[in-house]
Amino acid sequence: MDAAASEPQYALPGTISFDEKKAPRLMGGLCAQCGAKVFPKPKICSGCWSSEQQDLALATRGTLYSFSIVHAARKGWPSPYAIAYVDLEDGVRICAPLDADLANPPPLDAPVELIVGPLRANADGTQVLSHRFKPIKEAR
Ligand SMILES: [Zn+2]
Repeated sequence: MDAAASEPQYALPGTISFDEKKAPRLMGGLCAQCGAKVFPKPKICSGCWSSEQQDLALATRGTLYSFSIVHAARKGWPSPYAIAYVDLEDGVRICAPLDADLANPPPLDAPVELIVGPLRANADGTQVLSHRFKPIKEAR
């Protein structure tokens, strides 16, 4: 069996790492000059133009800033789906799909956490994975 064929494909290669418990972390950038935190890691800081960008493991939890439900999806994408902006606990705003009950979506500012799951299918049917967020179920 071809090992490469069984490797998962990611929409943004190199932006997700997994810890020893297989929990995902997003890898962003930290500007060494001005301290700006950005996802994904840029080659040049949009704030100060520095090219000194360090790897930064981002927070895995945040709050739902906004979202939209997309009904007309591109070929290979599920429909409908929700695309969201999430404000991570470390201040970075991330755009990502939101895994939620679209008939009963979570309120804005709801706590969410990072997961990894299918984003779309390639033309050959191969699943492409991406970072996503899902609401955190509050313990009662
Ligand atoms: Zn900077």
